[in-house]
Amino acid sequence: MDLCIIGSGYVGLVTGACFAEVGHHVICVDNDQRKVDMLLAGKIPIYEPGLDELVHRNVGAKRLRFTTSTQEGVDASQVVFIAVPTPPQPDGSVDMTFIEKVAREISSALKPGQYRVIVDKSTVPVNTGERVAATIRRYNPAAEFDVVSNPEFLREGCAVPDLMKPDRIVVGTSSARATDVMQRVYAPFKAPVLVTDVNSAELIKHAANSFLSLKISYINAVSAICEASGADVELVADGIGMDRRIGRQFLNAGLGYGGSCFPKDVKAFIAIADELGVPFTLLKEVERINATQLDRFLKKLRDSLWVLREKKIAVWGLTFKPDTDDVRNSLAIDLVNRLVAEGAHVTAYDPKGMEKAIEWKLIPSSVKLAKTPLEAATGAEALVLATEWKEFVNQDLAAVKVAMHTPLVFDGRNLFDPATMKQLGFQYYGIGRQAAK
Ligand code: NAD
Repeated sequence: MDLCIIGSGYVGLVTGACFAEVGHHVICVDNDQRKVDMLLAGKIPIYEPGLDELVHRNVGAKRLRFTTSTQEGVDASQVVFIAVPTPPQPDGSVDMTFIEKVAREISSALKPGQYRVIVDKSTVPVNTGERVAATIRRYNPAAEFDVVSNPEFLREGCAVPDLMKPDRIVVGTSSARATDVMQRVYAPFKAPVLVTDVNSAELIKHAANSFLSLKISYINAVSAICEASGADVELVADGIGMDRRIGRQFLNAGLGYGGSCFPKDVKAFIAIADELGVPFTLLKEVERINATQLDRFLKKLRDSLWVLREKKIAVWGLTFKPDTDDVRNSLAIDLVNRLVAEGAHVTAYDPKGMEKAIEWKLIPSSVKLAKTPLEAATGAEALVLATEWKEFVNQDLAAVKVAMHTPLVFDGRNLFDPATMKQLGFQYYGIGRQAAK
């Protein structure tokens, strides 16, 4: 089929490449000329495992191309996907300006007699589909189209496998014609398709992300009780997670949830519920627990080091999770900034996130960036693990211990085994685990 994706970021570009991989002809549109120029020059603007080869293979096979022109994309395609940002406003509600603008752009690109399925892949508040349809109709009363909600559930860092083998595909539409088109788009993926009305599909995305955030805050609240009582949160999570009704995933105690999705989606869901007159106070508690996790972690550093001012602290990890270069709303970045604000001398290392952290000015220029994890740890009075990259597990920790000035390790992701760390001579502090004596 001929498909167009408007917005070629983390969602749009990976979706476009995966659609091309299964045989569709895809045109990816972005209004950022620099991004499109990079893509046309064969450079991938984001890091996502497997994406580079996927894009090159499908561009080579002439199934994937890039443009800045929405008109060109709409002309060439039966289905037009929207994958533009839906950032939060200061009050937590969703900024809909990108979606509304794309709706107007699509509207003016639609020609009489050309039926198009307009698919919203961005995460949007319930009732957005109706507004998108009304906007297109207002500016182009003759347009023939259906609006479908098709929320995206990919996880950065494993977006390609998530898209190629999704748990489920949600298609929200009450049009039989659009349902048929969407079934054909997704047929090659051989995944279960849940067809719902538009509103339910939109709500599924916010409800799903809020539930996952709730799971994280739940185990983080449990981790505080573990610390106070002498239990080990990892064992508690294993014991809870072996119950198939609960599952072990998203029961990892740590610094909390960050990134470009969970914090904004929880906030959005709270705002949506408030606006509908049905306050979702449980989610406010989820946010409160998440916000206190970093405070509790920093207290551990202060309890051990007493004063952070002038302390040399190594931070491993800047991205919000491993296997991505995405540093948006990263708790690792928050952590670095809070350490600097307390006067610590921070040296950081991240396998993929340093470039964007500097480019987007997310960390102060006083933060030194190291070329290797070992270089970051050299001379440090404490090492803080902020993102659970595999590279950190594979470090020669004995060499790290020798290189450090004082061997204190604060593991914000419970990546290391406390017994092994103790054996190596580290003073090790995890989350929800007993401090090494
Ligand atoms: P992004 O910022 O990486 O990409 C969005 C792209 O849209 C940018 O390249 C931007 O230049 C482009 N754009 C903006 N306005 C445009 C316009 N009028 N015409 C053409 N291009 C335009 O964002 P993202 O992370 O891909 O997220 C997109 C949406 O998907 C959001 O609603 C997000 O909540 C949702 N989502 C994101 C993820 C994720 O992990 N990143 C997962 C699921 C859903």
